[in-house]
Amino acid sequence: MNENHWPALPGVREALVNSLADVNLTGDALAAGLERRLAADLGTTPDRVVAGAGSGALLQQFLTAHCAPGTSVVHAWPSFDLYPLLIRNAGAEPVAVPGEQQDFRAVAAAVTDDTRVVLVCNPNNPTGEVLGEEWLRSLLAALPQHVLVLVDEAYREFADQAEIADATTLSADPRLAVVRTFSKSHGLIGLRVGYLVGAQEVVGPLRRVAPFHRVPTVAQAAALAALDAGARMREQCRAVAAERDRVRAGLRELGYDVPPSGGNYLWVRLGPRNQEFIAHLAEHGIAVREVAGGVRVSTGVPEANDAVLTAARAFSGRPVEGAVR
Ligand code: PMP
Repeated sequence: MNENHWPALPGVREALVNSLADVNLTGDALAAGLERRLAADLGTTPDRVVAGAGSGALLQQFLTAHCAPGTSVVHAWPSFDLYPLLIRNAGAEPVAVPGEQQDFRAVAAAVTDDTRVVLVCNPNNPTGEVLGEEWLRSLLAALPQHVLVLVDEAYREFADQAEIADATTLSADPRLAVVRTFSKSHGLIGLRVGYLVGAQEVVGPLRRVAPFHRVPTVAQAAALAALDAGARMREQCRAVAAERDRVRAGLRELGYDVPPSGGNYLWVRLGPRNQEFIAHLAEHGIAVREVAGGVRVSTGVPEANDAVLTAARAFSGRPVEGAVR
């Protein structure tokens, strides 16, 4: 899984333990304190930030608030494999735009009068593709005014920060919203915390479909502590990215087809041999899965990454017939 294998960020454990003393109290049911802190960090106002139980929940709230039956939501493919499900759950129709490298013109061309939202995953899961600011600006310029763009930045911290767009800085355009999570970079997947930033009129409707207790109080405490450890978080993400690049280089040396990735995972393309590769890794105690026509290999601790390379070496000795090169 695309998880963070580092121990908790400094201060998180203490914050969790301290918050346990107050679990019998309502506390900040609306997570307003966390929203204020996030807004301050982002240089924006709290009415433009909504906290929620992870980015998956916020994606669902966004789609539910802004889509209705008969509308459509456009997204690239391959991309996060939950998008079609989340879109259908909101009563809308998913429209997938094929292409391993996302083309803003093709995305814009798939938009119709019925389209309400374009979902952009950056870095993309599972391909790892990183989109820069120019790409996002071009997409916005090519889209009609009635379409919202939601950029899913779940893996943003693992990418080269000079290369990847920071969609929160493009928020002068009210059509653009951004969703982020504490699940990956901050290592809090089990606590369920994320946030969505956008124009007040885009964020406001999400509050109406949000559960009253937005984020558990213990999770709020952990998230605030994790924000205080921002420098360490970025350092850890850089270390994860270095491991990811090490594994990619090793796999490519062995002849595997692996595009560059800005996430904490790699997408290995073996064509018709994907399942065989997955079964082979399983024999070595490594669990990976096929996503959108490739094998997604998450970055683990160095020993686990070494195990992937060892298993891949044994596999590449066999003929790789029909692999996409
Ligand atoms: N977006 C993307 C692209 C993801 O890969 C995931 C998790 N796999 C999520 C959102 C949801 O993460 P969470 O709900 O834990 O924030």
